[in-house]
This record gives sequence, structure tokens and C-alpha cells, in this order.
Amino acid sequence: MPHVVIVGGGLTGPAAAFRLKQTAPGVSVTLLEAGGRVGGNVGTELHDGFRVEAGPNGFLDTKPFLPQLCRDLGLAGRLITGRDAARKNRFLYLRGKLHQMPAGPLGLLTSPLLSPRGKWDLFAEPFRRPKRPRHDESVAEFVARRAGKEAARVFADALVTGIHGGDPAELSAAAAFPRLPVLERTYGGVVRGFIKSAKRKKRDALARGEPPPGPPRMWSFREGLQVLTDALAADLGPAVQTGVSVKRITRTPTGWAVHADGRDAWPADAVVLACPAYEQAAMLADLDPPLADLVAGIRYNRIAVVAVGYRQADCPGVPDGFGYIAPQHTRRDLLGVQWCSSIYPDRAPAGHVLWRALCGGVHRGDVLQWDDARLVRAVHAELRLALGVAGDPVFSRVVRWPRAIPQYVVGHLDRVGRIDAAAARHPGLFLTGNAYRGVALGDCAEQGERVAGAVAGFLGRAG
Ligand SMILES: Cc1cc2nc3c(=O)[nH]c(=O)nc-3n(C[C@H](O)[C@H](O)[C@H](O)COP(=O)(O)OP(=O)(O)OC[C@H]3O[C@@H](n4cnc5c(N)ncnc54)[C@H](O)[C@@H]3O)c2cc1C
Repeated sequence: MPHVVIVGGGLTGPAAAFRLKQTAPGVSVTLLEAGGRVGGNVGTELHDGFRVEAGPNGFLDTKPFLPQLCRDLGLAGRLITGRDAARKNRFLYLRGKLHQMPAGPLGLLTSPLLSPRGKWDLFAEPFRRPKRPRHDESVAEFVARRAGKEAARVFADALVTGIHGGDPAELSAAAAFPRLPVLERTYGGVVRGFIKSAKRKKRDALARGEPPPGPPRMWSFREGLQVLTDALAADLGPAVQTGVSVKRITRTPTGWAVHADGRDAWPADAVVLACPAYEQAAMLADLDPPLADLVAGIRYNRIAVVAVGYRQADCPGVPDGFGYIAPQHTRRDLLGVQWCSSIYPDRAPAGHVLWRALCGGVHRGDVLQWDDARLVRAVHAELRLALGVAGDPVFSRVVRWPRAIPQYVVGHLDRVGRIDAAAARHPGLFLTGNAYRGVALGDCAEQGERVAGAVAGFLGRAG
């Protein structure tokens, strides 16, 4: 029976193992995870009724892979969606004030976030000719070219801050937001592309006899996101070995050997590396130094999650919604705040709220050196300023991510292409995870599924 070793038990690795088990029952799988449990970035903690997500807070259903994985794991009935108010009411903290993110053209027209000139530039987007730039454009360049410098400074920054904790001048538009350049190329403009592709999706759904798709929704579970990775771990059972820190992989006459600390080694016909890029680079260093260098070049930012609980009575007048972003160019002590107990039920005890601040990112990684008390004080000060919170927090929990989210900087897709070409010289070796083709949980589920297909194809051919 061919044997596959998957290294890294976050979401990508277990999703790959699950799909392999389903689609290639003649293949045996071992999943090696350095930590004490499966989940990686995904982790839910319960403290005195405050349900804290240490990493991701939910997933969007913009791609079908993760909703399908939940259904296949039998979790469909346990999914919960973010409240409508959380979808509609999102805020920006700029120039010392909280501003509602405009919804639709009328909201944009009346929003104080842009000057008349900025609005003119934004509304001219559909009339600008499409261009095929000669270089890999940054998010800031792309948005400024299509919609003006102000839209780039306000909205592109907010988007990149909220999703990547990164800098729009550094991140590649094609790598971080692949849909935007595709819409420009296919439809001649981004706004036109959104409208036309939404119409096409609606037509296609109606033709299939399905209801037209609504706006994207955020999902989690009443007991938190860890339900997903716990279910994967339970399904994989003894195939998972935790507490195994893989150090290197080597070729053998018949395939591969995966080496951990000490003398432990696992033989394999195929190896999937689904751990962070810097770990993959270390494992590849002896096998293929140029490939290891390419992988090592993928940078990560630093993030501290600071969860705080308040008495509801101390938070009068805080709007109902998702939370707010403080665009990274403002260099504030926090990048944004998610109002977790407004988004999902069962996040805080009765009469209390639970909020989560994300601090750090590419430009304020220094805050990770602050001790917990200082971080909580800084977050509380920001919340008093932005939201007028009256009393002190009654609960706090700090989680540090020294290497949090991979940054798809300009040139990322070229780097990934060179990594793919180099890895292809090692039949049976597969590199995946959030470092390459998308950082959202939905992207990781997709990558897990795709790598499982590639491994099954390889073993079918090899067998
Ligand atoms: C603070 C934060 C908030 C986020 N918020 C969201 C959000 O709201 N929505 C969203 O969609 N995404 C969010 N993300 C992104 C998303 O959580 C990640 O991209 C995703 O979870 C990554 O999954 P992965 O399996 O690729 O990698 P990881 O979760 O990093 O898993 C890799 C695994 O490999 C293991 N490992 C490492 N080294 C070794 C070794 N030597 N041997 C064996 N195993 C090893 C690790 O222990 C880990 O378990 C967030 C990320 C962070 C950090």
C-alpha cells in the first residue's frame, strides 16, 4: 500500500489527509504535527464564559471548498453565520473618528472618508481603460491606477490591514487579491467586472434551479472554529501523530524518509509539506539548497491577539456590527477590533461583551515585545478613544503570533512559480500551506483538496 506522510497539522495538512482518505482509499496516510493538537492557527479557548479565538475568527463562503469540507465532516448542522448587522456595519478609525464603511454608490458619495476629488477618481473607475502592466503591481499601485490615490490610501489600506496585517505598497495585487486583476482583464474594469460576474453567477444558479447566491457570509461554530479541526483530527484518528517535530526529509532508494528529532524516521512514497514556509525551508535545506532559499524568502508579519471582555453597561453607544479597522498607515497600537460577541452568539457571559484587538502587523511588530499588561492597557486606551468605553476590562487574554501571516509581497507569484518548478524536480514531494496561494481558511481547504488530488495522481502513475 503506498504511504504518504503529511507534515503539519494546521488546516491544509488535515484537509489534504481527509481528502486522500476519501478519494484514494488504497493509500495510507500519516500526519505529523509538532504541537500537542491538530489545528495550527485555529484554536478556541473558553475562559469563564468568554469564548476566545486565538487565531482566525471565522471563514467566508466565497469559495466552495471549506463549506463542502464541513458538510463532508458532518458539521453542516453546527455551522453558524455572522449576524446581518455584522455583515453590514463595518467601521474605519481615521482622523480620530469612527466612520461607517460606505455601502454602495450612494454611501460612497455621501461618505466623509474621501474628498470630492477622491470620489471623482473612484467613480471614474468603470471608464478607465484596462491596462496590462509590465511589472507585478502592488495593491496600492493597482487601486491608485484604477480608482485614485485616495481610494488606495483609505480603502486598499483598510482591506490589506484587515486581511493580511500588511502594507498595500508591499503586497502584490495579483497574489493577495487575484480576483481584482482578473476582473480588469476579463471585463475591462473592476466595478464592471463585479456587476457582470454577479449577474452571470445569478443566471447560472437560476439555470441550475438553485436560489441566486447572496453576498458572502462569515461562518463559524457556536463552540468556536476549533470544532472544524477537532472533527478533522477525530476523523483521521491514529493517522495523526502529534508532538513530532520534523527536521529534514531525504531521498531513499524507494522513495522518501521523513526525519524528526532523534532517530525517528518515517518512510514514504510521497511527502506533503503543509507547515509554515520557514519550517519547510529548514526541512529542504540539505536536499535542495536553492529551493530552500526560495521558500525561506517568504516573509511573515507579527500579530498579537488581545481579547478583552467588558461589562455591557460600560460600553454604551458602541454600534452593533463587525468592528473597526485602523489602517496600518496610521501606525496605531492596534490594527483593528472585532466585536466577537456582536458577530456570533455565545462569545461572552450574559451582560458582557467580548472584543478582540489585532495588534502589530508589518509596521508595528514591536508591540509583541510589550508584556501582556502593557498590551491590554494600550488596547483599552484605544477602545476608550474610539468607542468611549467607560469601565476597565473584566477579562483579558493575549496570544502572540511571532510569525503570523505570510506576506505575498510584489514578486510572490514569480517566486511561487520558481518554487513549483524546483519542487517538480523531486517526484513525490509536494509543498503546500498558506504560504503560497491564499491565506484565508477557504484557500487552505482548497489547497488541501488540490494537493490530495495531485498526490493521488502521482501515486496512481507511480503505481
Ligand atoms: C491571528 C490570525 C488571525 C487570522 N484570522 C483569520 C480569519 O479570521 N479568517 C481566515 O480565513 N483566516 C484567518 N487567518 C489565516 C488562517 O488562520 C491561516 O492562513 C490558516 O489557519 C493556515 O493554515 P495552515 O494549515 O496552512 O497552516 P498552520 O495553521 O500554520 O499549520 C501548520 C502546522 O504545522 C505545524 N508544524 C510547524 N513546524 C512543524 C514541524 N517541524 N514538524 C511538524 N509540524 C510542524 C504547526 O505546529 C502547525 O500546526 C488568521 C491567521 C492569524 C495568525
